Amino acid sequence: MTLKNLDNFSKNLKGKLRFNYSLKNHTWLNIGGFAKIFFVPETLKELRDFLFYVKNENKNFFIIGAGSNLLISENIQNRIFIKLGKNFNKVSITKDDVIIAGCSILDKNISDFACKNHLSGLEFLSCIPGTVGGGIRMNSGCFGTEFKDVLLSVQVMDFNGSVYTIDAKDINFDYRQINLSKNLIFLSASFKTLKKNKKEIEERIHGLKEKKKNSQPLKVKTGGSTFKNPQNQSEKKVWELIRDNVDGEVSFGDAKISNKHSNFFINSKNASFENMYNLINFVKSQVKAKTGITLELELEIVK
Ligand SMILES: Cc1cc2nc3c(=O)[nH]c(=O)nc-3n(C[C@H](O)[C@H](O)[C@H](O)COP(=O)(O)OP(=O)(O)OC[C@H]3O[C@@H](n4cnc5c(N)ncnc54)[C@H](O)[C@@H]3O)c2cc1C
Repeated sequence: MTLKNLDNFSKNLKGKLRFNYSLKNHTWLNIGGFAKIFFVPETLKELRDFLFYVKNENKNFFIIGAGSNLLISENIQNRIFIKLGKNFNKVSITKDDVIIAGCSILDKNISDFACKNHLSGLEFLSCIPGTVGGGIRMNSGCFGTEFKDVLLSVQVMDFNGSVYTIDAKDINFDYRQINLSKNLIFLSASFKTLKKNKKEIEERIHGLKEKKKNSQPLKVKTGGSTFKNPQNQSEKKVWELIRDNVDGEVSFGDAKISNKHSNFFINSKNASFENMYNLINFVKSQVKAKTGITLELELEIVK
């Protein structure tokens, strides 16, 4: 691939193609360097054509959603980021009350859509600040419901440009992970729902949002939960392990531990990747030294 080839490709593009592009504003943590290429396709054809043009570099691809679970390094000048455009955020209902949504739609918007249409099941999505694509990849969830409980199928494009549908039954869902290849771009997904009284759905959404507001910091630059809750290693939640074993005042530059939720790390102003990375490693080592428990990251590091 030469940039000249891509110059031709970029003519008549509905989407966006940028070179040497800062990703800082594309992540919730507001950390990240300049990507070699940032591409926002608006059609399947644009996406497929792009994959073809840059196929020799597909080991450097990264698919980004709302960037709410990512810590991106400042050294990403060889990487190519693909973010599905607005045309991939359409949502509709079939006669069987199945919701079909493009994978760039925000979780909150699909939850609102379901509620407006008297459909229950997606209330939990009102509390997750990502996109449907990121949510499927992470098997995101809160307050007892995860994507695995509502997903019926996902339509994907592989890096060769082939499009196919994967039934949720054929996916192994685990705690904040699934077994599908990272060489897949999730395009759209279908969800099961249940007809219910709209007022009941609204009340449930309101209740979940209140719970979230009371337990987690809002309106701050954060990547949400930094570590996963340890499975079978401890009765305690990870935030308790951090609270009990790490000085909550510790900071590396502007990278700090939230005083509202000790598993949420915050960029209080201009934290660098290194600041946040050092804080993560410090917390991990303190918990390991004091409890013997090895924490596993939920936040994804992109280098
Ligand atoms: C304030 C806050 C609160 C949070 N609360 C919760 C919570 O309650 N529960 C929870 O589970 N998480 C929570 N998170 C974490 C985060 O919101 C979820 O992991 C979310 O689902 C990530 O979605 P995203 O679109 O931001 O994905 P990104 O962070 O952009 O990416 C995450 C992963 O998904 C992949 N990906 C994204 N889009 C696609 C696509 N179209 N095709 C293929 N792969 C894709 C990326 O490559 C990456 O591997 C929270 C985060 C914040 C900042």
